[in-house]
Amino acid sequence: MNGNPPAGRAPLYAAVSERDWQDWRWQQSHRVRSVEVLEELVHLTADERQACESTTEPLPLGISPYYASLMAADDPQCPVRRQAVPTMAELGVVDSEYDDPLAEEENRVAPGLTHRYPDRAMLYTTHQCAVFCRHCNRRRKVGDPTSAPTKADLDAAVRYVAGHPELRDLLVSGGDPLSLSDERLDELLGKLRAIPHLQIIRLATRMPTTLPQRITEELVQRLRRHHPIYVATHFNHLKECTSEAALALNRLADAGFVLANQMVLLKGINEAPAMVREMNQWLLKQRCRPYYIFQCDAARGTHHFRTKVSSGIKIIEGLRGYTSGLAVPHYVVDLPGGGGKVPLIPEYLVKHEGTKLTFRNYEGKLFSYDEGE
Ligand code: SF4
Repeated sequence: MNGNPPAGRAPLYAAVSERDWQDWRWQQSHRVRSVEVLEELVHLTADERQACESTTEPLPLGISPYYASLMAADDPQCPVRRQAVPTMAELGVVDSEYDDPLAEEENRVAPGLTHRYPDRAMLYTTHQCAVFCRHCNRRRKVGDPTSAPTKADLDAAVRYVAGHPELRDLLVSGGDPLSLSDERLDELLGKLRAIPHLQIIRLATRMPTTLPQRITEELVQRLRRHHPIYVATHFNHLKECTSEAALALNRLADAGFVLANQMVLLKGINEAPAMVREMNQWLLKQRCRPYYIFQCDAARGTHHFRTKVSSGIKIIEGLRGYTSGLAVPHYVVDLPGGGGKVPLIPEYLVKHEGTKLTFRNYEGKLFSYDEGE
């Protein structure tokens, strides 16, 4: 390992030029893809090493140098490391898990396009990501080049959207759509924006978390032409809230993108209400609204990440009242089989007799309210 790395870099990357480090294409092409390189970054446990050597299918190893530099070399429980480094638990077989937990393939209407809800659809644009997150609910195909739609596939999907006037909202997802070049994204969004009934486009990306260098001034200037665009980010832990991530979020916000964070609840990683509160307050400071906390989907190979539902409710209880409502996201379970999202909230109504209701507040104190006739 090299010594004295610049701030925010693992020793392995000490000699990389600042120009390369800030270049998202360099970061993308130098993702950690082998156990040999990973071992130069962290001291792997026997379990991690065995998993890295066994889990090329279905979700390969892939970690951007930026995100890899956030991992603790000596702590296998590091919340960043756990999201990026495979463990043997991924290979465990659990009956209640699904290859496709949200039945996206069943509801596929054109290549890469899932249309299940009345007024919105989701487009799978690429198999690439800056980091292959071990909890990914699309792990059945993310990372697999054969799952990537071709240009002709994407054109067919755009034609479907154009032919369905009820579609007013399209989620452009993947993989990470910001893995595509500026030109390809610009072209795709231009075709979508030309569809008169498509009111909003949502970009689901983990780049501000896993490769914030991707959010260049050139990118935001190109994409802002296609507004209104919402950006769904995916921050899961305070450790991911770096100055680089703040710069990326602020650049997007300055260019008029509406930012909303979707956190995935992960066992032993982000169950602490105080940490979530601090992370959400940081997100708000960057003009990114905490939008959802997702119960981890039952994707095959992710059982070790799933928490009890009570854990999510405890987080909401630790937020509501203790910080501004803007920092309190919806905690939801996305029902297996495509049933949609169900919000879960703590029980604040403790008694209802006639017109008299008794509530408990966030401190547990009781208050009466008469709703009248
Ligand atoms: S960035 Fe998103 S699509 Fe890619 S592996 Fe992570 S969760 Fe899955």
